[in-house]
Amino acid sequence: MTTKTTYNPIKREIPTTMSIVAFIHCGMCLDEWKADDSLNSRLSPRDYTSYEVGYTALGLQVWCKRHEANVVHVDFQGLRLPGNTGME
Ligand SMILES: [Zn+2]
Repeated sequence: MTTKTTYNPIKREIPTTMSIVAFIHCGMCLDEWKADDSLNSRLSPRDYTSYEVGYTALGLQVWCKRHEANVVHVDFQGLRLPGNTGME
């Protein structure tokens, strides 16, 4: 017997306002930032890090431009998820 999982999307408004509750950072950037008082005294992690974000064949990836390294790569596992690319 096989079980087929069905995706039942939740219909709700996706805000375009800042809604992040936990930031994701490049570990190498964060280590550098923490270790260098001349950096962390004048820049926040947000100001120090430099990322690119984009869709991939699997899903969505955050890439550290400073270290040319993966920060996170999310596999949507074939799902087409709702999103909001609006600015207001
Ligand atoms: Zn980095």
